[in-house]
Amino acid sequence: MKKTIILFFGPPGSGKGTQSDALGQKLNLPVISPGELLRHEEEKRTKLGLLVSKNLANGKLVSDSIIDKILSARLVRPDARRGFILDGYPRNKSQLEWLKKKIKRISKIEDKIIAIHINVSDREVKSRIGGRRVCDCGAAYHLKHNPPIHIGLCDLCGKKLKQREDDKPKIVKERLSHFRKSIKSIVGYFKKNYTFINVDGEQSIKAIELEITKKINELK
Ligand code: AMP
Repeated sequence: MKKTIILFFGPPGSGKGTQSDALGQKLNLPVISPGELLRHEEEKRTKLGLLVSKNLANGKLVSDSIIDKILSARLVRPDARRGFILDGYPRNKSQLEWLKKKIKRISKIEDKIIAIHINVSDREVKSRIGGRRVCDCGAAYHLKHNPPIHIGLCDLCGKKLKQREDDKPKIVKERLSHFRKSIKSIVGYFKKNYTFINVDGEQSIKAIELEITKKINELK
C-alpha cells in the first residue's frame, strides 16, 4: 500500500491546523497534531495532561520524550497505515532526527512525502491570533475569518468557545520567536530531500486550500 505523509509548517496562527484538517478530509488521512493530542490529555485531566498543562499555557515546548511517546502511540493506530498529516511536528532538531528515523522505518521509496510551508508575516500572525477561538472538541474558529454560526458557540458540538492561554500576546511573541529560530534548518531539510510546497498564507482560507490542492495535483 502506497503511503502519503504530509507535513505542515507555519508560524502559530498561520492556519496550518485549519488547512491540515481540510486536506485530511479531502485525502482521507488522519491529522496528527501533538498540540491537539496534548490539549486533549489536559482536558481529560490525565496524568500526562496535568504534567504538560503549564507548558501548554505558557507556549513552551513539551519535552521531546513525551512528544515522541504520544506520537509513536498515535502513528501505530490503523488509520495511519495509509499515511497521515503532521501538524506542528517536528519543531526542533532532535524531533527532526527522530522523524527522519521514523520515516526511514515506516516508508518505502514509492511513498509520497510532501512538506507544505504556509508563509505568514509576524505582523499578520499577531493581528490574526487575537481572533482565534477554540472548542474543547478540537474545532477552531476565527472571529473575523472563520466565525462560528452562533457567536461564542461551537458549530459542531454547541460548547462555549474559548481563547487558548498561549494565544495571549506576550506568549504569542515568544512562540513566534522560537518558530522563526528553529524552522529554517527543519524546512531546509525537507526542501532538500522531499517535495516541498510553499503557500501564500495571507489569502482567504478557501484560497489557501485551493492553492494547496492545485500544487498537490500538479505533482501527480
Ligand atoms: P500547537 O497547537 O501546535 O500550537 O501546540 C500547542 C502547544 O503544545 C505548544 O506550545 C507546546 O507546548 C506543545 N507542543 C505542540 N507540538 C509540540 C512539539 N512538536 N514539541 C514540543 N511541544 C509541542
